[in-house]
Amino acid sequence: MNAPRLEVDLGKIHHNARTLVERLAERGITVTGVTKALCGSPAIAEVLLSAGVSGLGDSRIENIEIMRRGHVAAPLHLIRSPMLSQVGRVVAQADRSLNSELSIIEALSEAAGKAKRVHEVVLMVELGDLREGIMPADLNAMAAAVLCLPHVRLSGIGANLACHGGVGPDATNMGLLSSLADSIETAFGVHLAVVSGGNSANLHWALSGADTGRINNLRLGESILLGCNPLNREPIEGLWPDAITLVAEVIEARVKPTRPWGTVGQTAFGTVAMPATEGHLHRTILAIGHQDVDPSGLDAPRGMAVLGASGDHLIIHSDGVPPVVGEEIRFGVNYSALVRAATSPFVSKVMTAGPARLDRLPLTDKARPAFHPARLP
Ligand SMILES: *Cc1c(COP(=O)(O)O)cnc(C)c1O
Repeated sequence: MNAPRLEVDLGKIHHNARTLVERLAERGITVTGVTKALCGSPAIAEVLLSAGVSGLGDSRIENIEIMRRGHVAAPLHLIRSPMLSQVGRVVAQADRSLNSELSIIEALSEAAGKAKRVHEVVLMVELGDLREGIMPADLNAMAAAVLCLPHVRLSGIGANLACHGGVGPDATNMGLLSSLADSIETAFGVHLAVVSGGNSANLHWALSGADTGRINNLRLGESILLGCNPLNREPIEGLWPDAITLVAEVIEARVKPTRPWGTVGQTAFGTVAMPATEGHLHRTILAIGHQDVDPSGLDAPRGMAVLGASGDHLIIHSDGVPPVVGEEIRFGVNYSALVRAATSPFVSKVMTAGPARLDRLPLTDKARPAFHPARLP
């Protein structure tokens, strides 16, 4: 098989999505499945839909177009503000977009009018994380302006946390989002169908028994794909943490000195600390590098450690039997490693449909063994 490659276990993804959809349904919250990390893969989209998500979201219009071409039959939402230069493509392919600028919403309305469509708009509110969003004090004026535009429909409001400032959801910011929804409804006599509270970082809050107020939707990507909570990167109980793995191939395996020699300056990607010990080490080189993956986001198999990487080479050390040339090594990935690998044209994506072995799923976080994917034979 091609290397390097991302192996995606669709059975495990389905289990993760289904579990979160069911847990959130008990709190009256629907799930928008976020497909951007795997570049709008129609196969992933279908698995998320069969697991019960209410719609799909992606930050890139290109990915939404890929899903449309792949005949994904579901509401498709652009979850990053459209660019002014792309409003035509957005109204043509996306049912809804998340917005924070009136000039862009006006352009969406005009483009939707030309295309004889109505485009749904969700207004994003800034709740302190300082990424996208309208300041709460300006929200009613913005809603008033949007309600005057002929070819857009104000579907709701939303927020995004824990992406730039690391601010998580709590009773204060989520309570504010709920009361802002009430306030728009009272002021303008409209109904807001959607109050989208945030991303995977909101899960712990939403399932904690806290009062979820008007929040009736979350947009989930990382928690479904990697089974972890982005606020602390802890595994989420009952989800597979290893649905996606990265496989790379050995191209050199040698014993070499631990320390470089000669006149030492900067390396291709910054500086490297001089190893403390002098001696010799099994050093294995894999054909994958910074251009394909975030090496710091790789979880090496037990007994192996990532020593470093350059653009095209990943250098690992192994304690046990050293790998041989041609052998494949399998890594766990964090979100950063996943998005870069999924985007690299040099990394193929292999979807496997193996049914997830529920009997092997650890029941509690404590019982869960540390995540060390097995090496391929
Ligand atoms: C990426 C993104 C999400 C999904 O975030 P995860 O942490 O992967 O769940 C949700 N909303 C917006 C606006 C995003 O950009």
